[in-house]
Amino acid sequence: MKKSTHELTKLNNTRLILRTVYTAGTISRADIARVTKLTPTTVSDLVEGLIQDRLVDEVGTGVSIGGKPPTLLSVNDESRLTIGIDLADHELHGAVVDLRGRIQVSKSVACDQTGEQAIALTKDLIRDLVAQVSPEQLLGIGLGSPGLVSTNEGIVRRAVKYHWDEIPLQQILEREFKVPVVVANDSQVAALAEYHYGIDPNEENLVLIKVGEGISAGLVIGCTIFAGDGHGAGEIGHICVVPNGIPCRCGHNGCLETVASLRGIAQAVRVVFPEAEGLSNDAVLEMLLHSAAQRNSRSLQIIHRVGEYLGVAAANIVGLLNIHKIVLAGPVSLLGEDLLAPMVDSMKVNVLDVLSNQSQISISQLGNNIVQIGAAALVQQSILGLF
Ligand SMILES: [Zn+2]
Repeated sequence: MKKSTHELTKLNNTRLILRTVYTAGTISRADIARVTKLTPTTVSDLVEGLIQDRLVDEVGTGVSIGGKPPTLLSVNDESRLTIGIDLADHELHGAVVDLRGRIQVSKSVACDQTGEQAIALTKDLIRDLVAQVSPEQLLGIGLGSPGLVSTNEGIVRRAVKYHWDEIPLQQILEREFKVPVVVANDSQVAALAEYHYGIDPNEENLVLIKVGEGISAGLVIGCTIFAGDGHGAGEIGHICVVPNGIPCRCGHNGCLETVASLRGIAQAVRVVFPEAEGLSNDAVLEMLLHSAAQRNSRSLQIIHRVGEYLGVAAANIVGLLNIHKIVLAGPVSLLGEDLLAPMVDSMKVNVLDVLSNQSQISISQLGNNIVQIGAAALVQQSILGLF
């Protein structure tokens, strides 16, 4: 049923207050009124509701500026828990996340299945995690999926890896678990995680380049995810960087993924190091990390080339959007400074100096759980208006 204007105003004001307390850490009712410009009575009434919902706690008293010392309020970070899922390569990762993006429980399962079987495995993983959360604490479930995702409709339009076409994942999971579900592209939610919890959080714009088995970017523009007109913003993995290069899984040749993804890197390593033949891509990355740490020149050369290609991608992004903050995430970012330095140099020679001089590339510190944290943040944002 449509909410009345009065109800909507109340909801918006409640969200504004919750967000104010969340951002402040601890704050008095009087200061909330000052910051939000709401009347003290409105603040008092709505705070009472938030306390009853256990979202906000009274946590002590502040310093008196004449009269009674004010009672301080704080968000109860564990009052609501969200399940975040990363539908990653070969594995599904799940986590129970609190309101500050901290992981309470995590679980991963191998997944080489596709179609209905992949959906069934996703449900099994969620069921295991739901069992660890009390029903009144469970806020919802967020999923980061590869491919094109319409978050508004809750539909995975296309995820090649799972052979999913037009899968109404939100509806399927809401029916099963009876809680709100949000579905989004994995790189986009990773960018959201970086925006909220990364280095220099809350920068208005950022691009996160996620490099794993595939390569894609997530864009936060004006503090919100930018998904493009057809949900495909940031699909940079299939931009051609080597004209007439080696064939890509997409049917074209010389895509960025063929030379700079985990798959592309593993292929390059196997050419140079016969002992890598037969190893999984993850194991090859491990091997590369190890030999780079020993300063093996052939390994460093491979990493250098990958950095150069990623730098071309970064230059294109900077040339198009003039965004200052570029963050590298995903397993390949473990290559660290050996990858970052040639990437920065390559960005600089492939776009106007005046633009590249303003842009900085860094490596995300959020680690392997970035998609789960970002998917949970999207749920917290859409249900509680927390960010
Ligand atoms: Zn391709």
